[in-house]
Amino acid sequence: MNRPEIREQMRHQLSDKTLFEQAKAYAYDYMDSIFDKRVYPAPEAIKGLEIFNEPLPHTASNPSDILELLHQYGSPATVAQTAGRYFGFVNGSSIPVSVAAKWLSDVWDQNAALYVISPIASKLEEVCEKWLVKLLGLPSETAAGFVGGSSTATLCGLAAGRNELLRKAGWEVSEKGLFGAPNLRVVLGEQAHASVFKALALLGIGKDQLEKVPVDAQGRMLADKLPKLDSRTLVIIQAGNVNTGAFDPIEEICEKANQAGAWVHVDGAFGLWAAASKNRQYLVPGLHKADSWSADAHKTLNAPYDCGIILCKRRDALVSALQSTGSYILYSENRDGMLYTPEMSRRARAVELWALLKYLGQQGLEELVDGLCERAKVFSEKLSANGFNLLNEVAYNQVLVSCSTPEITKATLENIQNSGECWCGGALWDGKPAIRISVCSWATSYEDIDRSVSAFIKARSIAQQQKEDSNEANTKNE
Ligand SMILES: *Cc1c(COP(=O)(O)O)cnc(C)c1O
Repeated sequence: MNRPEIREQMRHQLSDKTLFEQAKAYAYDYMDSIFDKRVYPAPEAIKGLEIFNEPLPHTASNPSDILELLHQYGSPATVAQTAGRYFGFVNGSSIPVSVAAKWLSDVWDQNAALYVISPIASKLEEVCEKWLVKLLGLPSETAAGFVGGSSTATLCGLAAGRNELLRKAGWEVSEKGLFGAPNLRVVLGEQAHASVFKALALLGIGKDQLEKVPVDAQGRMLADKLPKLDSRTLVIIQAGNVNTGAFDPIEEICEKANQAGAWVHVDGAFGLWAAASKNRQYLVPGLHKADSWSADAHKTLNAPYDCGIILCKRRDALVSALQSTGSYILYSENRDGMLYTPEMSRRARAVELWALLKYLGQQGLEELVDGLCERAKVFSEKLSANGFNLLNEVAYNQVLVSCSTPEITKATLENIQNSGECWCGGALWDGKPAIRISVCSWATSYEDIDRSVSAFIKARSIAQQQKEDSNEANTKNE
């Protein structure tokens, strides 16, 4: 950028702040409308996105127009997941203080790679690591890396495990690579999350190396069906099945794995947080006996996206796997965040995580987790009372229901999604369509649940009517 007038303009934008005031006004406008907004954008709003289909401008655009375009066409096409009636996937809302802290840190624009690049990012990562390890009851020496999400976190945990098992077998991956390496076994449940298979594939572990353990009706691994483990086995446990919210029998599996010298990784994207509540800890007995754990603060904890965490009992194993050094080299006395993540440059996501943890404290975190579980329970009871089939044991925040026939279930889900009243995703359960509800937003109130249950009932009667109408039409045609 050689033209001084453009640099001047940008300097002016920083000092005069009108751009930022404009963005702030739009953001406030959005916050004020979010609770009444359609949960899923209307078809016209999605159609409106075509305005973004334009060639890259040749010359500079007006920055205020850019923000206006975003608000005018972008805001209406957002999914209202920060409010109380979005139950899709397992997507959390965001806690206000963490959003505010993120705003401030956006202006800081820190790079969390090294202490020397950002002492504040390093300090807050160090504090979050300590707090999380304590909160989750993990071994005190556990290291944490702050990554984009659980997919990356799982990749990191499994990389540490893979390299460590091979190292014990006399094979140093950072030197010899994987070609010709001793074979590793991988034991995981039949319902392991898709991201686990992706991580394994990236790590050079193929489908033929996987030993899938049968699961019970809730998707939990059957511990007595576990194959014999050995010191060349990576075991992957799930804390929170995406459909049912069920937890694998962690303690039993960890004890067998520990005896055999296997490595255990826990995929706890949303379920690991059960450990933060004394009322839900019974779901994760023996959690501390695993070797690595992945979790998302952007799910259950309601941190803004993207906020995933890898926790690993062996700091040296995590660091050496992610730095491909084979040895555990620390650069300085202070925390250098890049040692614990695949990336080098990275935004300082610990800022908003720290703000959230400090705001809620241990008690608030417990109330957050328990509150999601309690409201899921009430949601499931009300749906049951209104004739929906409840397909899972609601011990955590996930609810799975169906209607009288697969056809009606599918049509009901579609009508719910189109209603704008609430939004849920679908799942295939036992080979049949199901409606999946994830209560994952702090903002969901009991009124939101009542309103959503009414939307479910209405969607189902529309589906029944649609079926009758089409039956009638078919009879006439015959
Ligand atoms: C969401 C989820 C993941 C993937 O997490 P991302 O943050 O989306 O990468 C992995 N496992 C489970 C059980 C999940 O729910």
